[in-house]
Amino acid sequence: MKVKHGFFTSLKCRECGRHYPKEALHVCEFCFGPLEVDYDYDLIKTVLTRDKIQSRPTNMWRYRELLPIEGEPTIGFQVGFTPLVKADRLAKRLGLREVWVKNDTVNYPTLSFKDRVVSVALSRARELGFEIVACASTGNLANSVAANAASGGLKSYVFIPADLETGKVLGSLVYGTNVIGIRGTYDAVNRLCSEIAGKYGWAFVNVNIRPYYAEGSKSLGYEIVEQLGWRLPDHVVVPMAGGSLITKIHKSFKEFVKLGLVDERECRIHGAQAEGCAPIVNAMKIGADIIKPVSKPQTIVKSLAIGNPADGFYSIQTMRQTGGWAENPDDTEVVAGIRLLAETEGIFAETAGGVTVAATKRLVEDGRIKSNESLVLCITGHGLKTQEAVANKCGEARVIGPHLREFLALLDRKD
Ligand SMILES: *Cc1c(COP(=O)(O)O)cnc(C)c1O
Ligand SMILES: [Zn+2]
Repeated sequence: MKVKHGFFTSLKCRECGRHYPKEALHVCEFCFGPLEVDYDYDLIKTVLTRDKIQSRPTNMWRYRELLPIEGEPTIGFQVGFTPLVKADRLAKRLGLREVWVKNDTVNYPTLSFKDRVVSVALSRARELGFEIVACASTGNLANSVAANAASGGLKSYVFIPADLETGKVLGSLVYGTNVIGIRGTYDAVNRLCSEIAGKYGWAFVNVNIRPYYAEGSKSLGYEIVEQLGWRLPDHVVVPMAGGSLITKIHKSFKEFVKLGLVDERECRIHGAQAEGCAPIVNAMKIGADIIKPVSKPQTIVKSLAIGNPADGFYSIQTMRQTGGWAENPDDTEVVAGIRLLAETEGIFAETAGGVTVAATKRLVEDGRIKSNESLVLCITGHGLKTQEAVANKCGEARVIGPHLREFLALLDRKD
């Protein structure tokens, strides 16, 4: 018999507060505000303790009362609980005392934090009776939908801009999904997907079941708190595309405080985008509430290249409410950021990771992060998927014949 849990109660409009049934809905019919999942926190408080969480398997479902499914999860038993790495060598280079890297480059199975959102989205899509899942993606989401749909026996369609990195395209094709490359920007892909979602009964993870999908990102925040020994850091730096992850990290911290799982303290949440597509950072820097969309993104950071971010307004609220800031390093700084993280900590991040490191460097230089404060960097995807970004920028192998004298000669050379 299937046990249904009453921890998540309804969908609720973020703007007018109207409640909706727990179906495949994502916008309020009255005010067009986005719908968000609501929980019975009083009930959750009676069952969810630190001990309970720590007694469970080390994956993202250890926080299952705070994730929006009714039965048991069916996707993602190996997802999450990625390492929180104490990054002393990086800290030294940045001039800081305490730096941690939340290393989602090794998230299972597709090496980005998107496996978190997809685990929830596909588990919920199944509960809602969907047999075909789909997404609009800048690359990582497509990889994750394709892989998790394959292992869960679901049929999938993934829609991407046609000009993505080779590794990201192949990283979907290999799973036997239907890859649709669109000649256009991510925003064009997303518009098309909204039309398709209205026409067919498919679960578009980030369109018609977006409220469920988005909640998966909270697990990254919960893990940071737990892995720090149940405390909040002074600062977190988060890469932003549509702006969902940064708002959900904020929500995760607030929920843990509300449930008494962590003590409240000031934790500044900062956002990072690449200069060539930084609609949220631009708005934050001029103090605007309205996001001016970027129509033609121009950056090597394709995973974050969303010109019209769905959660832009709410990510600005997150940064303002927590006392955080936003930075938009250029592509040269991004490459330097990737290399700095690799050379100091042995972690090869994708372009979004380079953005995060480079933005952090700026925040430290501008005195927004002080040397005696603690910091967590959210490193969200693996560098092997965006090799184009650093190809020819890290030197070359020095080639010799298989002879000791040639090796000795090479050591003697100055180059
Ligand atoms: C999708 C993505 C993000 C940010 O996602 P949001 O749309 O802001 O939630 C960050 N890093 C990587 C690598 C991504 O793929
Ligand atoms: Zn509303």
